[in-house]
Amino acid sequence: MGGPWAANGREIRKMSNTGTATAALVVEGLSKTYGANGVDHRAIERVDLEVYAGEFVSIVGPSGSGKTTLLNCVSGLLAPSSGQVRSFGEPIGDGPSAEMAIVFQDYSRSLFPWLTVERNIGLPLKRTGAGKGDVAAAVDSLLESVGLPRSVIGKYPWQLSGGMQQRVAIARALINKPKILLMDEPFASVDAQTRMSLEDLTLRVWKEWNKSILFITHDIDEAIYMSDRVVVLSRGPSTVKATVDVPLPRDRDQIATKQEPLFGKLRSEVMDLVMGQ
Ligand code: ADP
Ligand code: MG
Repeated sequence: MGGPWAANGREIRKMSNTGTATAALVVEGLSKTYGANGVDHRAIERVDLEVYAGEFVSIVGPSGSGKTTLLNCVSGLLAPSSGQVRSFGEPIGDGPSAEMAIVFQDYSRSLFPWLTVERNIGLPLKRTGAGKGDVAAAVDSLLESVGLPRSVIGKYPWQLSGGMQQRVAIARALINKPKILLMDEPFASVDAQTRMSLEDLTLRVWKEWNKSILFITHDIDEAIYMSDRVVVLSRGPSTVKATVDVPLPRDRDQIATKQEPLFGKLRSEVMDLVMGQ
């Protein structure tokens, strides 16, 4: 195994025992055209990408380039016009698959305001029929994983800061132990310092729990800091313009990693791709 996988010092099962690639996600020829009042709007066109098991892949592209559309098609929330998505070899059906969980950009809309933190986090597990004790134990351990004190358990989302709400949303996404996390600009609306700590929290969860993550952002530095690979989308109707490998060593550090000459080189490369269209 060579390339970014080896360079990152992280064990990624790119090959399975049978020698075939272990892809957590394969997106093939995915297109989505919205139709309204007889006018068609092509949002994404023939997008191909894959996320290998254990890999962290970011998608960057300008606003309106179809990033959310792409993620919604990948998760099964939105039916594509053509193309297909497979998760660990299985085509995804209608609606989100049990293998995947989504963290949305707008934390205020991704949590239920009338449910406490405990019930917001526990809901997906409760829906699977788990008993009260199991749900409570899972919520407890997740609070610790996402760095929230136990004292928030009885609070409502609107009583928490934006960063804390996004931690609750991450805990909820993790409760059913999905193999794949889909994150749509999850930290776009929090302050810079909170954002950095949420980025590091996400990297810790990814590593410790061996998740595969598809992460959408319009922030080039964030994409490089987090990822094994960065997929650059073209302006809409978007297609994959380029994929940039990020062979920066892990664990990464908000200050040291961003000072590495390679970080600057990658930033210029991705910026050229994003701006030069
Ligand atoms: P991004 O997340 O990159 O900002 P979106 O996927 O939200 O982009 O949107 C891509 C394009 O599709 C935009 O031009 C947007 O206006 C359009 N679009 C998004 N959702 C709908 C919809 N439900 N109906 C019609 N057009 C839509
Ligand atoms: Mg979006």
